[in-house]
Amino acid sequence: MPDTDATTLPICRACGTQYGAPRQDCPVCLDERQYVGADGQQWTSRAALSADGHRGRFEEEGPGVLGIGTTPAFAIGQRALLLRTDSGNVLWDCVPHLDDEIIERVHALGGISKIAVSHPHFYSAMVDWAHAFDAPVYLHEADRQWVGRPDPALHFWSGRTHELADDLVLINPGIHFPGSAVLHWSAGDGALFTGDVVHVCPDPRWVTVMYSYANHIPERPHAVRAAADLLADYRFDRIYGGWWQRVVPSGGNEVLERSVEQYLRFEEGIPEGV
Ligand SMILES: [Zn+2]
Ligand SMILES: [Zn+2]
Repeated sequence: MPDTDATTLPICRACGTQYGAPRQDCPVCLDERQYVGADGQQWTSRAALSADGHRGRFEEEGPGVLGIGTTPAFAIGQRALLLRTDSGNVLWDCVPHLDDEIIERVHALGGISKIAVSHPHFYSAMVDWAHAFDAPVYLHEADRQWVGRPDPALHFWSGRTHELADDLVLINPGIHFPGSAVLHWSAGDGALFTGDVVHVCPDPRWVTVMYSYANHIPERPHAVRAAADLLADYRFDRIYGGWWQRVVPSGGNEVLERSVEQYLRFEEGIPEGV
């Protein structure tokens, strides 16, 4: 698909979602899990971000895991992660900015064989990343309505799990968004990649889950319990959240279990006097 003017396609300044054509509003921001800024809907583009001095930021976030983001930070300020796996580089989650320098640098690392995105808040400019590296993007079918730029590179999976490679599986815990995904990498001591489907807290002894982080709406307790039960089938030492240095460095399963237990104690009511 020709990409001649993709650098000028509209990108929402608040959430970083790129759309395939100009529009008045951003559905992702109008949703109760995001927000429209006080100054109203604002747009930019990759070309405008480059002109404003935005550049790629690359930093190791763990063994075989390279963070790729933008400096200065833009929109929700997330970073993507490049997993150096035995079956090629996998990009987990995505960012709105992409320029020639970033493309060159990632090509020098071996390019990208597959892209998988946790949920609509990280869809960003995934189609541009897919085209730049000739890589398919894996999204859960249940969130298809949030795709702002349909493209043949987008592949939709359904059900609770989808195998990306022998040691990589996408899991749908059904929290934050119906089609939310986390990625389990079984290599070494195991790692779980979560975006903010499971959010790594400033104190990495804790993670949390929310329906809406922007508007502080908690996730439904029964959904949290079901997600925790599903994830308990996988072993992971590290948990990689969606932002720089939001990483649980060890004991991932225990951190998740303890955090969910605490969450449910508060959500479901702590008996008086305890
Ligand atoms: Zn938006
Ligand atoms: Zn989110």
